[in-house]
Amino acid sequence: MSKILVFIEGNTDQLKNSVKELLSAAHNSGQNVEAFAFGSQAKTLANQAGHFGAKKVYICSSDSLNDYNPQAFLTACKDIVAKSQANTLLASSSSLGKDLFPRLAASLNTGMVSDCTEISFEGDDVKVKKPLYAGKCSAEVSFENSPIKMVLMRPNQLPINEADTSQEATIEEINVENTDLKVLIKEIVKSTSEKLDLTEANIVVSGGRGLKEAGNFKLLEDLADALGATVGASRAVCDDGWVPHSMQVGQTGKTVAPNLYIACGISGAIQHLAGMSGSKVIVAINNDPEAPIFQKATYGIVGDLFDVVPKLTAEFSKVLQS
Ligand SMILES: Cc1cc2nc3c(=O)[nH]c(=O)nc-3n(C[C@H](O)[C@H](O)[C@H](O)COP(=O)(O)OP(=O)(O)OC[C@H]3O[C@@H](n4cnc5c(N)ncnc54)[C@H](O)[C@@H]3O)c2cc1C
Repeated sequence: MSKILVFIEGNTDQLKNSVKELLSAAHNSGQNVEAFAFGSQAKTLANQAGHFGAKKVYICSSDSLNDYNPQAFLTACKDIVAKSQANTLLASSSSLGKDLFPRLAASLNTGMVSDCTEISFEGDDVKVKKPLYAGKCSAEVSFENSPIKMVLMRPNQLPINEADTSQEATIEEINVENTDLKVLIKEIVKSTSEKLDLTEANIVVSGGRGLKEAGNFKLLEDLADALGATVGASRAVCDDGWVPHSMQVGQTGKTVAPNLYIACGISGAIQHLAGMSGSKVIVAINNDPEAPIFQKATYGIVGDLFDVVPKLTAEFSKVLQS
């Protein structure tokens, strides 16, 4: 039977939703599903992966793999791919995935497609769809002459199955010697934000130049708190230093596809749309009725965001807390 190998990433000790999506898609394909995870939380994540259909999970639980090191991760990946003999490898199109898997594809001389939004399995074949040219068109891609077909899926594209806690994965520890590392990561300073990462968030509230100044992002934080959302931003305001670049949504920022995206004071430049047009419902708040964002919006509010946003916050707080 064909086999799919899924790369596991976690938010500390919890499987990321994007990984649950991959495991669910792999399980639903009817193929044999294996997975692999790195770092000291690997065993915990492996147990959770079993509930989503992974039959076997390879783990490298060394502390030295807690933080991403391209060379160490690549060595471990090569070892696991050889052991698993999978036909297909699925990973999330995260920053880590997009750095690691092109290296693996090159070293295995195999095909890899990133930023995929659709996937289908037909026997051993895998077909994927991915947007091109900032979402102006999309390409359907299939694989040829690829010993293992490597697919990096964008988060929030696939349904997640119910966890089946009666299912457990067999866990195999892999030891990888990394005595000749050329680069050592000394420290990674993580963002202090408690909020869910933008790419994983179910609701995103984003702000642009219409907010006038950095301090006014507080309005969006209040709305986000009321909704349990994560705050994003246009590139214009990140470039102006109002908020960090980690919050940037768009072609040169993060790609998000939440269930609800609320754009406040954002014009809707093509480069911004490239990062959020996959959102299920888009609400735009802009005082210019001609703003291009309204062409993408499911619901448009023509108005002054300084008037509209506090009213939404008050209303949502009332409704959601009652
Ligand atoms: C190569 C390249 C890559 C890029 N990558 C990205 C990217 O990844 N992400 C990104 O966002 N941009 C990106 N850009 C920049 C992009 O082209 C736009 O310049 C940027 O998105 C504009 O940001 P904005 O909508 O916040 O500002 P503006 O275009 O200035 O829009 C501000 C909006 O706020 C509205 N407004 C003003 N006052 C109010 C008010 N009181 N109430 C309600 N609405 C109000 C205005 O009507 C206007 O529509 C890129 C550009 C290039 C060239």
